[in-house]
Amino acid sequence: MSRRHRRQDMSSYAEFYRQSIDQPDVFWAGQAQLIDWHKPFDRVCNDDKPPFVHWFEGGLTNLCHNAVDRHLQDRADQAALICVSSETRQEKTYTFRQLLAEVQRMAASLQALGVQKGDRVLIYMPMMAEAAFAMLACARIGAIHCVVFGGFASGSLASRIDDAAPKVIVSADAGSRGGKVVAYKPLLDEAIRLSSHQPDAVLLADRQLAPMALVAGRDHLWAKLREKHFDAQVPCEWLDSTAISYTIYTSGTTGKPKGVQRDTGGYAVALAASMKHIFDGRAGETFFSTSDIGWVVGHSYIVYGPLIAGMATILYEGLPTQGMDGQPDGAIWWSLVEKYKVTGMFSAPTAVRVLKKQDPALLKKYDLSSLRALFLAGEPLDEPTARWISEGLNVPIIDNYWQTESGWPILAIANGIEKKPGRFGSPGVPMYGYKVKLLHESTGEELTRPGEKGVVVLEGPTPPGFMQTVWQDDARFVNTYWKTLPGKTVYSTFDWGIRDKDGYYFILGRTDDVINVAGHRLGTREIEESISGHAQVAEVAVVGVADALKGQVAMAFVVPKDSGVLHDNAASLKLEGEIMKRVDSDLGAVARPARVRFVTALPKTRSGKLLRRAIQAVCEGRDAGDLTTMDDPAALQQIRDQVAAA
Ligand code: ATP
Ligand code: MG
Repeated sequence: MSRRHRRQDMSSYAEFYRQSIDQPDVFWAGQAQLIDWHKPFDRVCNDDKPPFVHWFEGGLTNLCHNAVDRHLQDRADQAALICVSSETRQEKTYTFRQLLAEVQRMAASLQALGVQKGDRVLIYMPMMAEAAFAMLACARIGAIHCVVFGGFASGSLASRIDDAAPKVIVSADAGSRGGKVVAYKPLLDEAIRLSSHQPDAVLLADRQLAPMALVAGRDHLWAKLREKHFDAQVPCEWLDSTAISYTIYTSGTTGKPKGVQRDTGGYAVALAASMKHIFDGRAGETFFSTSDIGWVVGHSYIVYGPLIAGMATILYEGLPTQGMDGQPDGAIWWSLVEKYKVTGMFSAPTAVRVLKKQDPALLKKYDLSSLRALFLAGEPLDEPTARWISEGLNVPIIDNYWQTESGWPILAIANGIEKKPGRFGSPGVPMYGYKVKLLHESTGEELTRPGEKGVVVLEGPTPPGFMQTVWQDDARFVNTYWKTLPGKTVYSTFDWGIRDKDGYYFILGRTDDVINVAGHRLGTREIEESISGHAQVAEVAVVGVADALKGQVAMAFVVPKDSGVLHDNAASLKLEGEIMKRVDSDLGAVARPARVRFVTALPKTRSGKLLRRAIQAVCEGRDAGDLTTMDDPAALQQIRDQVAAA
């Protein structure tokens, strides 16, 4: 292909996508040049035994080398890791050179505690620099990290310790949330007591936030080991592309979390490619993802992705509404965008809804001219929220849809290839490498007409970066996700969606969130979208509740902008009536909720996702199931009280 042709081909996203599907080997071999290989691969894609896929077999590489070492040549003294905590009121920037030194100190410390290639290291930490050092150090020496969200308590942590069987656990004395210290060490001690697996050693960063009792022979202080290994030189272990880099658990929104296992080379390529093509990130710039290292977004777009791209990344500890002086400040994020000249930002709709309750003038307080786009993922992004933030910040909002399992966006707008406005309410189009299909839920037939609702599935082979399997449970991987249909096996996302005539997808909710009212199938998302359009609604959750007559009816729980409604019977009846009318006119009477109830908060997972299954269970008088990932138990209690009072 001539150079002129290639340039022409790549100028449109449709062409780019088509090549990824028609000539995947050529396409991915090209993308693989975005990272460093110690030894080139022999085979691009091995899917001889579907649904298992091996990318870049025969190649040797290392995630830490690609994220840190390789940038020393061009940008050793540029910012790499920017740690900002509005909890401890500390702010510190590590250059690539300094980051490399810290990572080597951590790597040497882990080795001194007995960690070798293939061993698991469980990381249970708040959003502090050492958490990133530990992840990168594991990658450096070929240990498998398993980051457990720092907000989990002993029970959840214990089950993950047993599942991962770590040789070493890295943790800290405490985290802090909203100015309140949360001691981690007692939770960790209790979790180790509860688990049958026992780690050989625990490495602890002492932030001096809470007293720590050390267990002799087992517990070690990072400060001491760091001092001892201050000048350590720990070379990168060259790993097979297919070597396991980490395991991570899904959010647990639909039940027991699944341990997702990821490779090395495919993941590195996927991240390098997505930083360029989707996030339009450029070396030397700053990326700010507001997620937590405990979630997949934190792995891909706080730690590895931006660093692989040669960007500085902000690791922020604290609420979106709290200033560096500890006082309320709904503009803290925007102040960071101005200060660090952030060009790409990544957050979640749930965080934007929190900001939506603040004065909109806060969005204009700082100079945000460096910012080129705000990416949002994790949950359906309702149109009013998308418009509010888009107009407030005056940047494109790029909703992107993916899962812990995929590691990077499945649906999005490839902002680095084509600056095309997205569509409110839609997370965009299939990303390169993903063969996205909609299937009829019961017949499995492929739906091709615009506007038909179906289950969102992926046809194999899944692209680089996608999960390899469920950690130590191939059978669970195959049985949970893969369905065999005539002529093909497909991966189910368990999400429900439609595609419009231009190929844009809309996610309507999870397959188990579909409501069947007298034979009509409705996504909870459709009803929520309609309700959230009401000016007085801050947040809403809709669930289907068993009904003797209709099969199921919709039930809505609304957080009103003005909580006064909760104590004013006339006002709440009036608002309920208005909301019902709105749904009637948007979707038809069949979608109208049987009741609209008002609450001050909705039950969510710690990653900010609505726990509809728990709300539904409470409404149906059932046990709410596994609630270990729930954030605020009081929110579910409000719903229990409301249901009991009815
Ligand atoms: P579990 O799998 O344990 O039940 P989970 O599915 O919430 O938990 P994640 O992998 O964190 O765990 O979340 C992925 C899910 O989040 C998707 O399957 C989808 O339901 C939802 N989601 C993510 N991004 C979007 C988006 N942009 N629009 C709509 N839904 C989204
Ligand atoms: Mg899921």
